[in-house]
Amino acid sequence: MELEIVDVSKHYLTGADSQVQALQLINATVEQGEFVCLLGPSGCGKSTLLRLIAGIEQADAGRILCGGKPVTRPDPDRGFVFQDFGLFPWRTVRQNIAFGLEMKGISRKERKEITDYYLRLMELSQAADLYPEQISGGMKQRVAIARSLCLKPEVLLMDEPFGALDALTRLKMQEELMKIWQLEKITVVFVTHDIEEALYLSDRIIIMTVRPGRIKEVVPVPISRPRSRTGEQYLHIRAQIFASMGLDANHTQTAI
Ligand code: ADP
Repeated sequence: MELEIVDVSKHYLTGADSQVQALQLINATVEQGEFVCLLGPSGCGKSTLLRLIAGIEQADAGRILCGGKPVTRPDPDRGFVFQDFGLFPWRTVRQNIAFGLEMKGISRKERKEITDYYLRLMELSQAADLYPEQISGGMKQRVAIARSLCLKPEVLLMDEPFGALDALTRLKMQEELMKIWQLEKITVVFVTHDIEEALYLSDRIIIMTVRPGRIKEVVPVPISRPRSRTGEQYLHIRAQIFASMGLDANHTQTAI
């Protein structure tokens, strides 16, 4: 399902007579099946834009259309994955994944079939009966992704989902997410402040700037997958992004 973001602005009150312009006149589109990253420094409005697309919050002005229909509230069509996983500690891995299916009133038999499929897909079958505190951060995030995917959303909204993971797990999760995205042909909007992560994952990168939150540049990444993180074209686009953000491309630290 495609997304259209038209002239969207959003401010927050931060005191009796102070406010912050979180987003100013944002215009963007995301095509059906496209993987788009929102990239920018902390405070540029990435999460705010994602919450508006989710329908968790409303814009002051402008409109957001999902599949041609205005977004007015959260909808199972748009799944949301948070940085802090959002798992229920009192439910096992299997029960966490099945949560949304239970809410939808899906029968026990069908629930088991769907949950089994996503347990296998996310390589969690061995951990099905463990509780969140018994599994690693990477596994927790796989549970959270499985819980969203099993509701068959048209669009997956991911807010720094790998931000709490160690560097190696993060790379592995990026590779896994790519495989699943190609398999499920789902539209993804992914928030990150890590240039390498955006470059590895995206069809297009929307670079945002802070105060007010605006789109600075949209960078297409026409590199076939699976991507090499050291290919010539990859490094060329990487340099382009660093330049766009006013950073030195020789930085080894790519989180901004
Ligand atoms: P990012 O995700 O890029 O770090 P955010 O969307 O979280 O940026 O925030 C954009 C701006 O809006 C920041 O200045 C932030 O402090 C402010 N902001 C976000 N949410 C709220 C809120 N609920 N109340 C007040 N200010 C907020």
